[in-house]
Amino acid sequence: NQKVVLITGCSSGIGLALAARIAKDEKKRFMVYATMRNVGKAELLVEAAGRTLGRTLEIKQLDVCSEESIKACVDSLPERRVDILISNAGMGLIGPIECQTIDEMKTVMDTNFFGLVRLLKEILPDMKKRKRGHIVVISSVMGIQGILFNDVYAASKFAVEGFCESLAVQALRFSLNISLIEPGPVITEFERKVYEEGLKTDLSKADKVTADMFTNIYLKNYNQIFETLGQTAEDVAEHTHKIITMDNPPFRHQTNTLYTPMTTLKYADPNGDLPIETFYKMVFEHDKVFNASLNFLKLLRWRSRKSFTLEKDKST
Ligand code: NAD
Repeated sequence: NQKVVLITGCSSGIGLALAARIAKDEKKRFMVYATMRNVGKAELLVEAAGRTLGRTLEIKQLDVCSEESIKACVDSLPERRVDILISNAGMGLIGPIECQTIDEMKTVMDTNFFGLVRLLKEILPDMKKRKRGHIVVISSVMGIQGILFNDVYAASKFAVEGFCESLAVQALRFSLNISLIEPGPVITEFERKVYEEGLKTDLSKADKVTADMFTNIYLKNYNQIFETLGQTAEDVAEHTHKIITMDNPPFRHQTNTLYTPMTTLKYADPNGDLPIETFYKMVFEHDKVFNASLNFLKLLRWRSRKSFTLEKDKST
């Protein structure tokens, strides 16, 4: 009666933490197929999995950019059954768009967006037939709100969110669940890789103001944002474990309450100017940060009152 969980991108970060956490479920409710593009990189997962390896966790090859690889992996599962799909594999890209090639941008879209589409083309028809299944997508707060110099990455996550929002209506007809997990900054390889690539950006194609904004404002504050707001991969895994054990899992779930006031700005202003102006002030008008922070606190209080009301509504 174990549920079969297939997770992508398990050689590091959130995917690795997720695979280990779910395989170690106290009630042994899950059989985890932890997949990765290159199984030669399984060392850390093997270590984290410990005694669950070969019991509630198995490692398999899967490249989300290859339809053949996805099909081969799903075909290798008993009855091709996947009860819970966790689409986690992804990559980032930062910098001014004039310094990035279209090919680099396409790789991000191909991995983050079409990676999910390929998985669902292979797995969704079976889920529909069985009228059972939960699709969990590791999106990001950048799936609902753009961030300076993350233009293409945010676009890839917006694509994921639009795709899932459209599909969710159809899924309901087949009693399937879809959940978007939206972490804020998470301290993983991702963050380090993105930062190091960012440092290597050839800024010769950018004007002076843009290059300066990227180097002296964005990159300079990058690590600090992760230090003050950052969560661990294990934290995100804990949230996701909770979501897959719920009877009625939510469509959206943010894992970082510290970040929530930022995304709330978007819904607080139908004109859409509030988040853009707030980010602008945070980045360029340091003396106004105090006022911006004050607005955050007000919103935070408003938000907690609202979520309290929602909790109360649920219980009645
Ligand atoms: P990570 O770099 O440690 O993990 C990403 C994993 O995806 C890696 O193991 C990588 O090998 C794998 N991957 C990349 N391309 C692949 C492909 N074609 N096929 C299979 N696997 C592939 O970073 P992470 O932070 O654990 O990222 C996991 C997910 O979380 C991503 O979707 C990312 O967008 C999302 N996310 C990360 C953060 C953050 O701050 N780190 C925040 C919000 C959301």
